[in-house]
Amino acid sequence: MAAAVTLAERGVPVTVFESGPVAGGRARRVTTEGRELDNGQHILAGAYEELLRLMRLVGVAVDAVLRLPLELRYTDGFAFRSLWLPVPLGLLGGLLTCGVPFAERLGAVRFMSSLKRAAFRIVPDVSVHALLERHRQNGRIGHYLWRPLCVSALNTPPEQASAQVFANVLRDSLAGAAGASDLLLPRADLSRLFPEPACEFVTKHGGAVRLNAPVRDLAALRGEFESVILAVGPHQLKTLLPGAVPEYEYQPIYTCYLQYAESVQLGFPMLGLADGLVQWAFDRGQLTGERGLIACVISAQGDHQQMAQDELAATCHRELKQALKDLPEPQWSRVIAEKRATIACTPAMKALKVASPLPGIVLAGDYTDPDYPPTLEAAVRSGVRSAEQVLSSI
Ligand SMILES: Cc1cc2nc3c(=O)[nH]c(=O)nc-3n(C[C@H](O)[C@H](O)[C@H](O)COP(=O)(O)OP(=O)(O)OC[C@H]3O[C@@H](n4cnc5c(N)ncnc54)[C@H](O)[C@@H]3O)c2cc1C
Repeated sequence: MAAAVTLAERGVPVTVFESGPVAGGRARRVTTEGRELDNGQHILAGAYEELLRLMRLVGVAVDAVLRLPLELRYTDGFAFRSLWLPVPLGLLGGLLTCGVPFAERLGAVRFMSSLKRAAFRIVPDVSVHALLERHRQNGRIGHYLWRPLCVSALNTPPEQASAQVFANVLRDSLAGAAGASDLLLPRADLSRLFPEPACEFVTKHGGAVRLNAPVRDLAALRGEFESVILAVGPHQLKTLLPGAVPEYEYQPIYTCYLQYAESVQLGFPMLGLADGLVQWAFDRGQLTGERGLIACVISAQGDHQQMAQDELAATCHRELKQALKDLPEPQWSRVIAEKRATIACTPAMKALKVASPLPGIVLAGDYTDPDYPPTLEAAVRSGVRSAEQVLSSI
């Protein structure tokens, strides 16, 4: 949709073919048992400049996201807060005041300074775990800050995740411009957050959007259109470009929705759980008005993949109950398992290059971005880049 909007804005007639019934792909609204949910809870960051720019362009209201200064609050009392001070003092203040031993706080400031001195370049690329070991950041600060940030941003366990990509994320968020590390929590469903307004923008600018319209034959499409941008997920490439696709490894994201009585609230819209399966719990009542609905997120691989859905929902409830003592039994639960949520963001996977073997076909998607982890921002950046490529060729 980022590619289509960019082209439509420049007056190029575009047609979007979407195989599903709803726009949004891996960030979309789903209807299950008569309820509308997201296929998984998402978070945006202030650093998502291209996505935020395009959201404004297609007319998404500013209050479609709840913008909060970075604050990682855990149910066990640990909190990391970026202070309201000019960049980079807010971050430094946050590191120096968080609840870990003083030596670790100082070590964290040194870690960030040393990354900055190296211009956030890690050569050769290693795992995030190795990077944290090298800088003695695997203690409590690693447990509460670096490792959760790595899993949330790269969707890959620190033992496998690319330190270079992690450094890129730190460069653009914690060490980035004012507001770059802000958390932006969706208040609209994910299809309304950008994809559907983007479809409306494309249509208004003379383009067309066809839902329930899978493309099966790229060569035929190539005959019909001057240029084709192929923006499918990496696992959906194989049938369209047989033989041209590297063997990607994937990581899952599970979201467990637990519906409690409407009076149930978390103290904050997003709470961390540091020691179990659940990493973050989101209070949808405070975000989307779905009172009593808690979304528990489990990113990356783990033991939960062997569990039946009921068992997993019961575990999520138990972990929440340990933190929130008076929590009643949930009235309803639903687990949405996205088994191939993103490619594994490892040094090896990031080094893979895939190019279209067919002339006039440009690839786009989160997996193609050389700099960013597979996220909404990576997908949007790659979409804009592919549109620029098409524009320069016509
Ligand atoms: C559960 C979950 C949680 C996530 N959380 C976050 C988060 O908090 N923050 C964040 O930034 N990112 C998050 N991500 C990652 C983010 O959703 C993805 O990086 C992003 O949506 C990828 O967009 P894309 O356009 O590259 O691919 P996709 O969203 O996969 O889009 C590809 C589209 O192509 C369509 N398609 C496929 N084959 C065909 C065909 N043959 N013909 C026509 N259409 C076809 C698909 O239906 C799909 O709509 C999460 C992902 C998941 C799954």
